[in-house]
Amino acid sequence: MPRPGPEFEPTLIGYPACAGVLSVQRESAHLQFCCSIGHGFSIESLLQAKEEDLEKCLWSVLSLLEHVEMIGGMFIRQIDAGRLPVPKDGLVERIHQAKEQILQVRHIIEETVTSDLGEEYDPDEARSS
Ligand SMILES: [Zn+2]
Repeated sequence: MPRPGPEFEPTLIGYPACAGVLSVQRESAHLQFCCSIGHGFSIESLLQAKEEDLEKCLWSVLSLLEHVEMIGGMFIRQIDAGRLPVPKDGLVERIHQAKEQILQVRHIIEETVTSDLGEEYDPDEARSS
């Protein structure tokens, strides 16, 4: 696996699948990115990989918000049943906020339109290019 040589300049962008930071070969007509251990990306495959990571993260955020809402609801039912002697106002407010945030994140996911670059993300192919 080729490592970035002196023709590469470091970026602030992390490689999608490892902890390496990407460097970019600025002088070439076709931008090539390479991490410190030699993973390579074209600009098309890098953008697509980042879009996929972003979508995965948004679904994780959505799941976490739904879990907060569900657990908060269970918590309130415990309070209402007299099993937990704690005030519930903050909890009720948080559940309301989580419901709003669920709608917002779902909207972000549904409204996102990624550019079709006509290229399937394939790290092995990206590495050899
Ligand atoms: Zn890497």
